[in-house]
Amino acid sequence: MELITHWIGGKPYDRRSDRHGDVFNPATGDVQAKVSFATPAIVDEAVSSATTAAQTWRTTSLARRSKILFAFRELVDRHKTEIAALLTREHGKVPGDALGEVQRGLEVIEFACGIPDLVKGEFSENVSTDVDVYSIRQPLGVVAGITPFNFPAMVPMWMYPIAIACGNTFILKPSERDPSASVFCARLFKEAGLPDGVLNVVHGDKVAVDRILEHPGISAVSFVGSTPIAKYIYETGTRAGKRVQALGGAKNHMIVLPDADMELAADAATSAGYGSAGERCMAISVVVCVGDAADKLVPRVVERVKKLRVGPGSDPSSEMGPLITKEHHAKVASYVEHGVAEGAKLAVDGRGFRAAGHEKGFFLGPCLFDHVTPEMTIYKDEIFGPVLGVVRVASYDEAIALVNHGPYANGVAIFTNDGGAARTFQQEVEVGMVGINVPIPVPVSYYSFGGWKASLFGDLHIYGKDGVQFYTRTKVITSRWPDPHHRGVDLGFPQMK
Ligand code: NAD
Repeated sequence: MELITHWIGGKPYDRRSDRHGDVFNPATGDVQAKVSFATPAIVDEAVSSATTAAQTWRTTSLARRSKILFAFRELVDRHKTEIAALLTREHGKVPGDALGEVQRGLEVIEFACGIPDLVKGEFSENVSTDVDVYSIRQPLGVVAGITPFNFPAMVPMWMYPIAIACGNTFILKPSERDPSASVFCARLFKEAGLPDGVLNVVHGDKVAVDRILEHPGISAVSFVGSTPIAKYIYETGTRAGKRVQALGGAKNHMIVLPDADMELAADAATSAGYGSAGERCMAISVVVCVGDAADKLVPRVVERVKKLRVGPGSDPSSEMGPLITKEHHAKVASYVEHGVAEGAKLAVDGRGFRAAGHEKGFFLGPCLFDHVTPEMTIYKDEIFGPVLGVVRVASYDEAIALVNHGPYANGVAIFTNDGGAARTFQQEVEVGMVGINVPIPVPVSYYSFGGWKASLFGDLHIYGKDGVQFYTRTKVITSRWPDPHHRGVDLGFPQMK
């Protein structure tokens, strides 16, 4: 059976590892590979390799760094269908969705290609007579990224291209459920000319993560995953003196006002609710219908959901693939039971779905609940599966209060044709990423991605300009070149003259 191993110092790690995990093919339910789990000693080897590489990488010219990033961009673009195929094999998402993920990751690499412009400092001439002040942005050193299973290529690409472009060296700990894409891309980066040790990949679980968090040689940690782990990473990492950004879970609402284009809203709710089997941190999981919107919207969504083609990525007609593991499948299915028991109306029941020829796969058909209320577990918890709930409210005020009272604040959308209502909403809503007639408002690479409240622990969002800030620190230099008329001792606090 294939063994997926770490990538340290520009090559596969070839020594034995005592700890391993199973990598499943979620469409067949079979274990298709084993993945090595790093021990603290293996993480230390990666840090040591990254530390050595950092000595020369931080002084490598911006021109050279940018050239390597351009070459990497070309290679990822050339191999994108292969990367997408790895995602389908290990994650289960259908090929079109997988390709879309790689494309959004590519956009961040393209942003990082512009690093010479992004790290420019500031300069003020003659702040005092003959004194100039300027700021420069310097890398932090060795930084790490810990990523979730649901975007095995894109989320790491939110991190390492920018961190590396800024002059840092990087240790990536991808999800142990779908680890292959990270190693594949590390290999491509080497082929693009990246020196050995600048990007290292260590696989594993909590053991590897905990060593990353406590290792004194690592200056900063970017994390994307569920809220309880994000909180743990933030608290543990900052206690160890590191800079940390930790993005957590979500429960995203889509508000539909009665004047919305109901065909558009129904398409959007279906696409954003069930795309990637609902395993997206920006998935819509609650549709909040105002006034009589539900009576118009729900039948349209039901019609669309019933037509969704669920199946393996190997079948070109599949629109929605399986869930990531058997355990996750059981958890999502148990939420459907809860919803029924709590009194929500199950308008579409996907529990009985079986994919022909793939009976052992982790498939769950799409489920749609109507008449969900805020006290129900299916409303409160992040389900992370193909389960969409509709909440009916009387007014816009009730809808926005619902959104603003939620513990998560990753994404939100409003569907309306009333510009004034949309503008009021944009101003009042307490959520980090807002869509107006756009259901999944993932910002383009030159803005930054991040939620509020329990969806982000830390100060800076990920990628874009916030990413550059996160992976650099500013130094301010005050300079005067010797001139005889500057002589003379002065014990007073420096003042501008
Ligand atoms: P997860 O939190 O279980 O795992 C994320 C990473 O943390 C993995 O690399 C995993 O190995 C590691 N990890 C897991 N348990 C750990 C522990 N006890 N101690 C230390 N490390 C641990 O998340 P997941 O199931 O892989 O991904 C799904 C979650 O990620 C969802 O909650 C989703 O909303 C969230 N997510 C958020 C964003 C965002 O941008 N906010 C993006 C994608 C996914």
